[in-house]
Amino acid sequence: VYNTGHFDYLIVGQGLAGTCLGHCLESKFKRKIFVVDRDSGRDCSRIAVGGFNPLVFKTFTPTWKSLEFIPFLYEFYKGFGDEYHIEMISENPVLKTLKGEDQRRLWENKSTSEPSSFFMDDRIRGSIDGTVGPYGFGAVKQSGNINMVGMLDEYRHHLKLNNQLLEQSFDYSLLEYKEGNIEYNGIKADKIVFCLGHNNTENPFFKYLPFKLTKGEALVIKVPNWNPDGIVHNKINIVPMGEDLFWVGSTFSWDEIDTIPSQTGKFYLLKRIKETLTMDFEVVDHMAGIRPTVKDRRPLLGEHPKFKNVFVFNGIGTRGVMLAPYFANELAEHMENGKELEREVHIRRFSELK
Ligand SMILES: Cc1cc2nc3c(=O)[nH]c(=O)nc-3n(C[C@H](O)[C@H](O)[C@H](O)COP(=O)(O)OP(=O)(O)OC[C@H]3O[C@@H](n4cnc5c(N)ncnc54)[C@H](O)[C@@H]3O)c2cc1C
Repeated sequence: VYNTGHFDYLIVGQGLAGTCLGHCLESKFKRKIFVVDRDSGRDCSRIAVGGFNPLVFKTFTPTWKSLEFIPFLYEFYKGFGDEYHIEMISENPVLKTLKGEDQRRLWENKSTSEPSSFFMDDRIRGSIDGTVGPYGFGAVKQSGNINMVGMLDEYRHHLKLNNQLLEQSFDYSLLEYKEGNIEYNGIKADKIVFCLGHNNTENPFFKYLPFKLTKGEALVIKVPNWNPDGIVHNKINIVPMGEDLFWVGSTFSWDEIDTIPSQTGKFYLLKRIKETLTMDFEVVDHMAGIRPTVKDRRPLLGEHPKFKNVFVFNGIGTRGVMLAPYFANELAEHMENGKELEREVHIRRFSELK
């Protein structure tokens, strides 16, 4: 049984984007929302480990807008954790394997000058047991990972409990749209927001947006008695999950866009693990997903240029964990209070060109 009343928002898609937006609209703006999401099990939010890292490793400079995202991220996920009584943020610093004397010197220099110093520990770690790293490891401050699956599960549970969730594939032919009024399967709403991740390519309203999707693969491995005290980064991330399990990822592929774990992906990850670990390990799982990456590498937010009250929140790409809370809030502020969206993320940048 679901609620067929009148809602402020109908959200389609409950991945990381839809969850952050739904939570923001309910908690901060006290809005009534309804969600349609199919139960797909392995969409990209569910296979991503939820890592966040505000440092570009080629240059040791902060990533795009990370000085704004990071404080926002801590507050947002902590707020979610407090409300739903779950631990949301693991304090697992990313430990970057330094590649030679030059890179070690660069770390030493950058870690003592702003703004890089906000995110770089100036004490280089000499060694980590069981790990290859002759030049040491640089720890990234304010990096770690969130409890992504826990968050999605808790929020879904909350929606179910309150009859605010319809678990089905959204059927576009059932959407009635008349001059800005929205009705879907007996559910009426003032606004509809599509948060479909890579599946947006099937969305008749927004499929014109220029995605450049990327496939990513990850492994879960078991390494008994290895305690790196952080996320070891050596081109790939090895993320502690507890009970001797580690998430290892990821690959990037632009040619074969599907969700099938491949031998090529596995081979690449195994090679990297062997370059990093001196311990024995066993592969427990292998996953593949599609990231909602955009041609200009910026998120996609805003109202449809022709259809009033039809919105999109997508394109959070490779760094969804950092971007989703901040832009969920920006979009909510835009829809609720008319706050202007930055041009860089507004979908108008593309519809203007059409
Ligand atoms: C291997 C891998 C590792 C990654 N690691 C990280 C990481 O460490 N840190 C990081 O920040 N990011 C990471 N990412 C990227 C991250 O996963 C994405 O940025 C983020 O999860 C995208 O969330 P989303 O909500 O936009 O999309 P999705 O997670 O794809 O969610 C879309 C939702 O919409 C639903 N949906 C779609 N179409 C329909 C429909 N027609 N009807 C009903 N429901 C529908 C789906 O079921 C799903 O629940 C990784 C990605 C991959 C593939």
